[in-house]
Order: sequence, then C-alpha cells, then structure tokens
Amino acid sequence: MIASPLAKPSLVLGFLPEDIREAAKDHPEPPMWKQMIAHCMFAVFIVAFVGGIVYLGVDGLRRGYGFWKLYGRFVLALFICKAFDILVQDQWLVMSTDFFKRIYPETADCAGWKDRGFNNRNQLIRIVLYPVLCLIMAWAFVMFGNITTEPSGVVEEATVSTTEAGSSESEQTVDRTDIYLTLVNPTHKVPDDWLDKIELVEAENSLGEKYLVEKETLAHFEDLRDELLEEGIDIEIDSAYRSVEEQQRIWDEFSVRYGDKVGEYVSEPGYSEHHTGLAIDVFLIDGDRIIRDNDDLFAAEDLFAEVHKHLADYGFILSVLPGKEEICGGLAYEPWHFRYVGLEPAKEMAEKGIVLEEYLGEEKS
Ligand SMILES: [Zn+2]
Repeated sequence: MIASPLAKPSLVLGFLPEDIREAAKDHPEPPMWKQMIAHCMFAVFIVAFVGGIVYLGVDGLRRGYGFWKLYGRFVLALFICKAFDILVQDQWLVMSTDFFKRIYPETADCAGWKDRGFNNRNQLIRIVLYPVLCLIMAWAFVMFGNITTEPSGVVEEATVSTTEAGSSESEQTVDRTDIYLTLVNPTHKVPDDWLDKIELVEAENSLGEKYLVEKETLAHFEDLRDELLEEGIDIEIDSAYRSVEEQQRIWDEFSVRYGDKVGEYVSEPGYSEHHTGLAIDVFLIDGDRIIRDNDDLFAAEDLFAEVHKHLADYGFILSVLPGKEEICGGLAYEPWHFRYVGLEPAKEMAEKGIVLEEYLGEEKS
C-alpha cells in the first residue's frame, strides 16, 4: 500500500479492472529511485511472509505437530491473509476509498471503481490453489523435520533444561538430567552399568508391601501421593524397580496367558522401564476397596484422569500415551504406569502431549 505511489504503474494496476488499467496506461513512471524503494519494500514483505510461514512450520514441528495439524495451521494462516486481502485491499482500499484514484487521477471517471467483483477470478484461483499449496508445505515440513530436528533437538532440549535447573551445580545436573531422561523401551535396552548410576532405596506401601525404587523418584512420588490424598485419592506403589531376573519370571508367567502377544503386555527382560527404578506401577485404594486388577484399573478411568493431571507437577509422565503405542516400541497404554523424568522435561512433555521417545527424537528406532 505504501509502495503503490512509488512503483511502476504496470505493477500497481495489474489487479485492477480493465478500464482503469487502460485509462492509466500512459501515466508517467515514477523516478528510478522511487521504484527501487518500492522494490525493496516488496522484498521485505515477501521475506516477512515466507519467514512467517517458516516460523509456523518450525514452531509446529517443535510442538510435535504431525502432517494434518501442520496442514490445518497453514490453511488457516493463508486463508486469514486472503480474507484480509479481499476485505481490506479489494473491497475497502480499492472500492471504498479514493486511494488509487488519487495516484491515478486520469482514472477518476472509470466504471471499474464500482465493480466490487473485479478481482473475483484471481481470488477464486488462489482460494482453490491454497489447500494444495498447504499440502505441499506440510509435507515439506514433515520431511524437513524428520531429517533435521531429531538429533539437534535432543542436544538443545538437554542444554536448555540443565541451564534452567541451575548453573551452580551444573556438572552434577547434567549427569542427573541424562539419567532421568534415559530411554528404556522394547528397542532400547537398559544400560549395563545402570545400577552404578542410580541409588535404589527400599520403601513400603500402606499395605506393608516392600519395593525398591530410585531415591529421587520415591521422594517425588511421595509428594504426588500426599497431594492426591488431600483430594481423597489414594495411589499406592504396586511395583517399581525390577531386576532382569524378576522380569524374566513375569515374562514367562504372562507368556502362558497371552502367548505371542506377551510383548504387548510385558517388556522383554532387559528392555523394561522397570529396570531403571524410575518407573512405577500404582494401584488405587478407594475406601476399603483395593483396585488392583488390570481390568478394574482400566475401568477406574475417572480416578486416573484426576491422577494424571498432577503427574507433570512432580516430574512424572505416562510412558505410553493412548495412540502412541507404536512410537513407544509397541507397548500398550497403561494408565497406572508412571515414569519419572524430572520436573522440566515432564512439564514440557505434558504441554506438548508427547512421550519420551518423541521428546528425545527417537521415535523411529
Ligand atoms: Zn509398569
């Protein structure tokens, strides 16, 4: 708009009705320096527009958007721009003000200034093309995201969370963050020297059953449990740390029940998150009723919905989210299986609705 009086008439008039273009065709061109300014302004506009699209795409990827969510975002953005273009430029600036008439006084009597449909064909073509363009852009961003964001994403996130955690104990914090973000799933085995890295402590649930769990995980779980007790919800630890031998025993036991599908319910020995001591299975006590069977636990979805709301505040996540089973190595969603990852990562994952595999950018292994 500001550039219009500075640019060549042939450029400005391009989208206006034909009689106006005809009437203004002999309008003198502005001096070269003015035209240069107009070109620069136009270039800045294009860069800003493309930058805006790239920002939307990169930001979407960072939030874990998939193809269709990115697509929706682009469609929305382009159509908002288009609506602005039609309403403000075509209908208001051209039809309802004398802006262009003042630049090209020789067109003052043209009938085209009254023809509100003058740009319909142009705009329609764009409206039809935009969804296709958005498909291509969403596809390009998903491809780009797959190639670039994964490895660099991990480094960035880890650095950010450690600096935020406090710089005075930086070296210590770096190690701890790495430990609490260790991925163990059906495709990622627990590290061999794992037990040297963590401190397991023994604890007891209110039924007097003993279990082993990583120290910081226990501290945060107890805080979580206390807060839920205030809301009248009693969660108890069913099991936490499991040795590889124990897991072997469970695997064998479940194999009898589930046959080939055992891998959907139990992790292969060495590949269970429970080997880390950072994963816990809980059960519920409702009055004097103990809700502990898998079927009963699945049925208690209202209670779990309330419990899940508080997880991130204490550094816990759900290891598998519904619909993300495949990303999590084929494990099934279990509302009772929580994993300690640390406060900042847990909050970020909860906000984005992503699992640890996605947070670390390792969902494709
Ligand atoms: Zn579990």
